[in-house]
This record gives sequence, structure tokens and C-alpha cells, in this order.
Amino acid sequence: MAHTPYPLSYYAASASPAPTRPALEGERDTDICIIGAGYTGLSTALFLLESGFKVCIVEAAKVGFGASGRNGGQIVNSYSRDIDVIERSVGARQAQLLGQMAFEGGRIIRERIAKYNIQCDLKDGGVFAAFTAKQMGHLEAQKKLWERYGHNQLELLDAKGIRDVVATDNYVGGMLDLSGGHIHPLNLALGEAAAVESLGGIIYEQSPAVRIERGTNPIVHTPQGRVKAKFVVVAGNAYLGNLIPELAAKSMPCGTQVITTEPLGEDLAHSLLPQDYCVEDCNYLLDYYRLSGDKRLIYGGGVVYGARDPANIEAIIRPKMLKTFPQLKDVKIEFAWTGNFLLTLSRLPQVGRLGDNIYYSQGCSGHGVTYTHLAGKVLAESLKGQAERFDAFASLPHYPFPGGQLFRVPFTALGAWYYSLRDRLGV
Ligand SMILES: Cc1cc2nc3c(=O)[nH]c(=O)nc-3n(C[C@H](O)[C@H](O)[C@H](O)COP(=O)(O)OP(=O)(O)OC[C@H]3O[C@@H](n4cnc5c(N)ncnc54)[C@H](O)[C@@H]3O)c2cc1C
Repeated sequence: MAHTPYPLSYYAASASPAPTRPALEGERDTDICIIGAGYTGLSTALFLLESGFKVCIVEAAKVGFGASGRNGGQIVNSYSRDIDVIERSVGARQAQLLGQMAFEGGRIIRERIAKYNIQCDLKDGGVFAAFTAKQMGHLEAQKKLWERYGHNQLELLDAKGIRDVVATDNYVGGMLDLSGGHIHPLNLALGEAAAVESLGGIIYEQSPAVRIERGTNPIVHTPQGRVKAKFVVVAGNAYLGNLIPELAAKSMPCGTQVITTEPLGEDLAHSLLPQDYCVEDCNYLLDYYRLSGDKRLIYGGGVVYGARDPANIEAIIRPKMLKTFPQLKDVKIEFAWTGNFLLTLSRLPQVGRLGDNIYYSQGCSGHGVTYTHLAGKVLAESLKGQAERFDAFASLPHYPFPGGQLFRVPFTALGAWYYSLRDRLGV
């Protein structure tokens, strides 16, 4: 069977050693079969294994092959739409629960790293950078909102304050979240996979789920095998394709691109980001960047609706990097790659159940490093019979994309063009 390798990313090039896992062959029985070995699948597996369940993961390619092994590595709190939007969408009790959970994912990541001794270059501190007074006003409101939910590790930065932590004159201010931070995302996934296996969980690679036979004991079919389970968790996110048409209909895969420079050396790296914080700006189509453990700049941005792979990623992202840091004009780009995240119309995650025994979480719409770790905990709680927090997520409304499969890409791109034009005009 064809072997799908990782994309040629900086992360793959600097990955911790990991075993090659076999493909599923023949028939297996388990308590819970998870489809997809990204953070959602791995986090769910770990919480379930820690509670004594039998777990088996089928992964179409390799652990962390999807967004979890390619992302910007930024630990960003809350969801892609903030809690004020949630407060307007669901009842007070559900909003309260979801608000309290918005800061849990980062804590789960840190607990995992400490408990399982995962080497993934964890650094604390993330900055939201504002180009305009209007964006700064949003950050001030966000700080008050987050503090209302008990999140207090925040500091507003004025123009001088942000210049002290990011060597660019582009911003008027920002907000520092000391509980944000950054990691080597693939090494986090690989470390979590090793933890899964240390607890007796089984991961099959090169084993795409091609069909789910629904019923009292659902069966997940792969090309050479099948897993009979009491429950199935679908965690394929933007790489799931049309395996479950009702999930595909209410979400849209989108690509975003990342480049990585050659190593900059201590002095240049320190001059760009003296505190080694990660940064994302406040635009609708935002740029995100940070230093790697070996002092390269990892810079991402852009969105390709519908997730077509761009022909020349460096040509798209390098100009963005130079707009932020013109001082890097002579620096070489050594890696450039693309990855897919899953957009929902509300930009809030979709969590739910198909029938009684097939669970899913998908669509964190760009900010998923923390959410997916939380999702694993919430899915596991529900499978253990405590569904209050799962129900809070499941109460978030799901909408189909306007335009259906045919026109959702141009319709959404038009909407994004409008919002990014407003950002460019500063209105
Ligand atoms: C380039 C990029 C940059 C990003 N930067 C950030 C960031 O800095 N901070 C942040 O918070 N978020 C970021 N995100 C989003 C974040 O990475 C994702 O939200 C998160 O990793 C999603 O995790 P997941 O486990 O749900 O999905 P994925 O990591 O995509 O995992 C899904 C897995 O399921 C497998 N799969 C799919 N279908 C099947 C099937 N039929 N059978 C078996 N296996 C299957 C896939 O191969 C894949 O390994 C970024 C995303 C991208 C693409």
C-alpha cells in the first residue's frame, strides 16, 4: 500500500525519532475506535486510556500528518470566535461553561508535556498585535471579557510596550497573554502518540477509514482491516474528506501557509523577538510568527479557501514576513509548506453525536491547538457518562455554508475579501 510521508516542513525535518507504525490488517475489537491521529484524536485517546478504556486509533497517513504536525505552534487561548459571540448564541449556563473552558486547553497541553516528559520546545507567552486603534479597542474589550471568566495573565501593551517585544514599527499596541506560548507542534503530537502507546493504546498508520458501518457496535473499515468498537470518535477534521457527508456539508477545508528561515543566530533572533513570545496580528486574515527552538523565524499567514495547494508558497508568505521584519531581506527561506484547517460558518467548533455511538469534534477554524486538547477531554468525559460540558459544545449552532459544495468557496472568499479590505483601510 502507498506510504504517505509528512510534507517537507521544518517540523518533519526536526522531528523527534518515532517508530513506523503498521497498517491495520484483519479484525480488531476495542472499546473506542478513533479516526485520526491529530491532537483531537490523540488527546481523546489519552484521556480515555487514563480512565482504563481500550483505545485504537486508525490514521490515514502518519501521526500528526494533518494540521497538528504543520501548524504555527502557537498556544492561543479561547476559540476562533470569542466568548461574547458564544454568549449571544447559547443560553447563560452553556455560555458560562464554554467561557470557563476557553483557557483549559493550554493547561492540558502543559500538563501533558510535564506528565509524559514531551520534548517540544515549550515557551511561554503570546502576543496579539494591533495595527489600528480600533483593533486595540477590541483587545481592551477582550481583556475585560477574559478576566470576567477568571483569566488574569494578560497585559495590555502600548506602542512602546509592543516595540519592546516585537522589533517592528507596524503596531500601535497589543496584548500579552502569559499563558499563551508556543511549541514544536509535530513533536507534541509524536510525544502524545508515544504516551498513548505507553498506556496500551494502539495506533495504526497508513490506515484510512474508508467506511463506518453504523449499528449497535459500529465497525470502522480500512482497506485491509476493520475495527469493531462500542464507540467511534471521528477526529479527521480538514482531512476527513467526504467520509461522513453530513459533517462535510457544514464545514470547509482551508489552506494556510508557513515558511521557515535558515537559522538566524542568537543575536538576530533575539533582536526580533527579545522575549521569545509568539505573535499573531489582529487582522481578519492574520499573520502569525515565532522563533523555533534553533532560532529560525517561522512565519505563517494567508488563507486559501477550499484548500488548493498554492504553487509558490514562499512568493506568498515572504513578502508578508518582510513587511513585518524588513531586516530579514537577505535571509534564506529553507522550508515552505501548506496545511489545512477546517472552517465553519460561525467559526466555532462543531461537536456532536451521530446516532448513539459516533462522536465527533471538528472545525476549530484556525485556532485549534488549545481547543483540540480540550475537545479530547470533553469527548472522553462524555464517553464516560459525564456529558454536561460536551452538551455545552453540542449546543453551539451548526450552519451549512451558503452556496453548497459548488459555491461555498467563492462566497466565503468574497466575505473574507470584504473583511480584509476593512482591515487594510483601518475601518
Ligand atoms: C498551517 C497551519 C497553521 C496553524 N497554526 C495554528 C496555530 O499556530 N495555533 C492554533 O491554535 N491553531 C493553528 N492551526 C490550527 C490547528 O493546527 C488545528 O486546529 C488542529 O491541529 C486540528 O487538529 P485535529 O486533530 O482536529 O486535526 P488534524 O491535525 O488535521 O488531524 C486529523 C488527522 O486525521 C487523519 N484522517 C483524516 N481522515 C481520516 C480517515 N478517513 N481515516 C483515518 N485518518 C484520517 C488525518 O490524516 C490527520 O492526521 C493551524 C493550522 C494550519 C493548517
